[in-house]
Amino acid sequence: MTTFNIAIVGAGPSGFYAADHLLKQRDDVSIDLFDRLPTPFGLVRYGVAPDHPKIKSVTKAYSRIAKKPEVRFFGNVNIGTDITREDLEAHYHAVIYTTGAQTDRMLNIPGIDLDGSYAATEFVAWYNGHPDYRDHEFDLSVEHAYVIGVGNVALDVARILLRTQEELQATDIAQHALEALAKSNIKQVTLVGRRGPAQAAFTFAELKELGELADADFIIDPADMTLDPVSQAAVEKNKKSRQKYELMADMAQREPAGKPKQLFLKFLRSPSELGGSEDGHVSSITMERNDLIEAPDGRLRARGTGYMRTYPAGLVLRSIGYRGVAVPEIPFDDKYGILPNVAGRVGSANSPVIGHYTAGWIKRGPSGVIGTNKPDAGETVKMLSADLEAGIHLSPSAADITDLLRSRNVDFIDWNAWERLDAAEIAAGEAAGRPRIKATTIEEMLALANA
Ligand SMILES: Cc1cc2nc3c(=O)[nH]c(=O)nc-3n(C[C@H](O)[C@H](O)[C@H](O)COP(=O)(O)OP(=O)(O)OC[C@H]3O[C@@H](n4cnc5c(N)ncnc54)[C@H](O)[C@@H]3O)c2cc1C
Repeated sequence: MTTFNIAIVGAGPSGFYAADHLLKQRDDVSIDLFDRLPTPFGLVRYGVAPDHPKIKSVTKAYSRIAKKPEVRFFGNVNIGTDITREDLEAHYHAVIYTTGAQTDRMLNIPGIDLDGSYAATEFVAWYNGHPDYRDHEFDLSVEHAYVIGVGNVALDVARILLRTQEELQATDIAQHALEALAKSNIKQVTLVGRRGPAQAAFTFAELKELGELADADFIIDPADMTLDPVSQAAVEKNKKSRQKYELMADMAQREPAGKPKQLFLKFLRSPSELGGSEDGHVSSITMERNDLIEAPDGRLRARGTGYMRTYPAGLVLRSIGYRGVAVPEIPFDDKYGILPNVAGRVGSANSPVIGHYTAGWIKRGPSGVIGTNKPDAGETVKMLSADLEAGIHLSPSAADITDLLRSRNVDFIDWNAWERLDAAEIAAGEAAGRPRIKATTIEEMLALANA
């Protein structure tokens, strides 16, 4: 029986789900799972908020997949630099790209490049100890922070800015972020939504948490809760929206308890400009009031009313969406920031790129929760499996990728090495009364993994 060698590029949730589906659907596959970092789990390690440890427990299931005899993990191997498309084609019958969405969508307003204005992607990666972002510096000496966007990531960022040291100490937040946040002077954080409360993307549980912060009152202006008729109808029709709206309406009526910090949630506003001080640092944010208009597709869109107001601001974090980055030599859809694909087959219906597949955020864009990636990877593997049956695959000629990696002096690590690194991080955490202290440089990771 032929064994099909499959490469999966990216060891985040989608990579593990793709491996799992392959193993469940076929008994003739051997899988090599690559990640450019020595650490697996993608955004479960570097995105999910440190104060949400339960969500991270999904990694236990991923570890079980990685330990299957048909799977090998190659950490610290960057596809595109350490290994090229040509190399993959010489070693594998098929390749699945699960590289995620690694950058942010830009907000093109004057002043966006001032010091003190950052992408939430950078801030999230920094506080989660991603090696590419550990040396970033965020000026937390200011009092007023604005978070642009009202998705769950925006809420994560606002919470982390306002959590007490005691709360953060109990999480696996990176040590450098814990220390920087200990010195933070931020007193007020304002979340800003372009549209109204009925269109807010955050979920009920994340909203509820904002009302329970130890050190910060959560304040919504009751006037912001007024709904236009289309939003009213939408809220009445959809149970989840209604529950969220009712909770917000209830929260808007609460009297602040007089906690030392405040978290404001504001709707129907768009930032139009960031003002700067002489030293090039953000000092203000100008926002335009919006109203909502119904677009031809029935969705409500924000429209500026021309009414502007300027507020003091020292830190602005834009959280308006993630975006995929191109994998060298593989087609890329620059408009949507994804690999162009038809149900997971890279390319178009008329010109598929034989042997190349994609799953997860780089396939469909940054949407859904971790579990959404499971059926998504299932669809891709179904296509791949059908192609294998039909004899549509690459024809590898080279033996084992390990030889190539060694010949190029790529310092890759396997799953056992990752487990040593994992254990070392947990042990370091125990010694400091924390769940884990993350290694945050590649050198440190490799040293612990290879110890
Ligand atoms: C800030 C944030 C918080 C979130 N919180 C939650 C939450 O609380 N609950 C929830 O359900 N979902 C949450 N999500 C969503 C969840 O993280 C995603 O659905 C999921 O991680 C997407 O999986 P993925 O495998 O497609 O991408 P990723 O998780 O991004 O994994 C991609 C992997 O590919 C690797 N890679 C990239 N390029 C290369 C290359 N060239 N060579 C080799 N490897 C490469 C990366 O290092 C990474 O490990 C959150 C997302 C973000 C951004």
